[in-house]
Amino acid sequence: MSSSQKHDIDFLDFARGLFEKAVGMLEPVGLDDFSVISGSILLIVGLEKLVKSVIHAHYPLMILLDKITFEVLVDYDNGQSFANYKTISFDEALVRVINLYPVLKPHRSRIKKIIDDRNLLIHNFGAIDIARLERDIQVSVCDFAEALCSQCLNRPPEDVIGQHTWTLLQRNRNGYINSETLDLNTRIEHLKRQLAQNQSLNCPTIDIQDFWHGLEFFCPVCEHGATVYFDVDWDVSDFDHREGAVFVSPYPSPVALSCQCGFTLSTGNEVSILLGDKEESLCESIIHELGSGIVYS
Ligand SMILES: [Zn+2]
Repeated sequence: MSSSQKHDIDFLDFARGLFEKAVGMLEPVGLDDFSVISGSILLIVGLEKLVKSVIHAHYPLMILLDKITFEVLVDYDNGQSFANYKTISFDEALVRVINLYPVLKPHRSRIKKIIDDRNLLIHNFGAIDIARLERDIQVSVCDFAEALCSQCLNRPPEDVIGQHTWTLLQRNRNGYINSETLDLNTRIEHLKRQLAQNQSLNCPTIDIQDFWHGLEFFCPVCEHGATVYFDVDWDVSDFDHREGAVFVSPYPSPVALSCQCGFTLSTGNEVSILLGDKEESLCESIIHELGSGIVYS
């Protein structure tokens, strides 16, 4: 490419290209740690581009980092593309896309987590749980990409991301989900047998935090009521510049489950598997109960 040539790559092209490279690196055959790390970073950057393409499609100026001045608005009116302007961070893009499409809220905590994972991969060294990263990132990226395409762009994901790439992403996600569900179900069956023989259950001890929010849920082991715990994050959901008010909303995510019979789950991921499609309504009930808060600045 000579210096006079300029490729105008839009966010969606970027997302597609990065996802394609990533799934190539994450092929289960011959996978080594560095392929997992490289593929995971590419997947997360691809997701960032996809989120920005959704915001950009909604209203292009919403992805700009700097304050929008009168001059910027005039340029926009004149059809300028803003291709070389600085854009917002992935964290900020996540806040904005959820503001525009509240239906994406249930994904928030998992996507925040993989943004942290990316920062860890880029800025740290030493102990990294590769197996967890590989699973969490592929599952979360695939779920969120699917929601962005169908709920925000109103297009099937294979259309947006490309049939081949989407098939591979989905295949990997389903593989992880099936094996985890299988693991959990096998463990539950084992614990049920232990309980029937009056043995004490060998489950992790849960350090229940005061700020967690507990709700009752069916215990699959003793078949009575267990408590499922949610961590609730409060984050800015709206501004009123005239009144100087900042609105904050609760964002719950499951963190643990504990039952009188001794059964516990100590990871949000496993609790999510157990809750299945009931997770969303439980989160909604917490959001409803806690309501929104207003902070005056
Ligand atoms: Zn129980």
